[in-house]
Amino acid sequence: MDSSPHHEGPGTARLTMLGSGTSMGVPSLGCGCRVCRSTDPHDSRTRPSILLSAGGRNILIDTSPDFRLQALRAHIARLDAVVYTHGHADHILGLDDIRPYNMKQHAHVPVYASAHTQAILRRTFAYIFDDAPTMSTVPAIDLREITGPFDAAGVRFQPVPAHHGNTEVLGFRFGRAAYLTDFSEIPAPSMDLLRGLDDLILSALRDKPHPMHSTVANSLDIVRTLAPRRAWFTHISHDLPHDETNARLPANVRMGYDGLTFEVALG
Ligand SMILES: [Zn+2]
Ligand SMILES: [Zn+2]
Repeated sequence: MDSSPHHEGPGTARLTMLGSGTSMGVPSLGCGCRVCRSTDPHDSRTRPSILLSAGGRNILIDTSPDFRLQALRAHIARLDAVVYTHGHADHILGLDDIRPYNMKQHAHVPVYASAHTQAILRRTFAYIFDDAPTMSTVPAIDLREITGPFDAAGVRFQPVPAHHGNTEVLGFRFGRAAYLTDFSEIPAPSMDLLRGLDDLILSALRDKPHPMHSTVANSLDIVRTLAPRRAWFTHISHDLPHDETNARLPANVRMGYDGLTFEVALG
């Protein structure tokens, strides 16, 4: 996560799950349920985001409202690119907190997003784009539209489009791993992009059906179909206690958690 290359061999990246929680986070404000009151640190889930570190460079997937806290916890010393899955609040609201990296690196940060997500960013963060004179700092970003596979900070990304209720979201494959959050359905052409994975991170909100999110049962079906070596759940609500849920999952499927980290083969 810092700029020293000690953990990464050639052609690998280190993946860190910065946040594993659903949009309201766990604990959820004002909730007294047993997961929200749990003393197991795995049951404490900030909003969803992952970090990829490769060749001394850091790529952030989504800027959650908890980004500042996540960056402090993970000791993120520099930021080289941001890649967005979609424009919902729990995935974008931390964008303002990239400013210290702009100042330290004296550079704009490249930001990759679909045309639809870019429109939401321009609306939500109008002060970044209005070019009005300001006496304080605003994030310095270089918006780049995702229209197909792209390179961000030296890592090749394959977008994996999916449905998120009545809207669209992008998952991403990078080498032998993929990250898919906030989907209700993965269309067949996208499933074909997800074969032969070592690690699949996918969201599993809870057991009860939700119009916009995959459930535990649905995500287990996807894992059975795609047969990655390992799968990790994310975007988890307070319905699912970490240990108890792990105990009923197949051995190759585990609950993700804040701070989970492993190496990914990029070749
Ligand atoms: Zn979300
Ligand atoms: Zn709760």
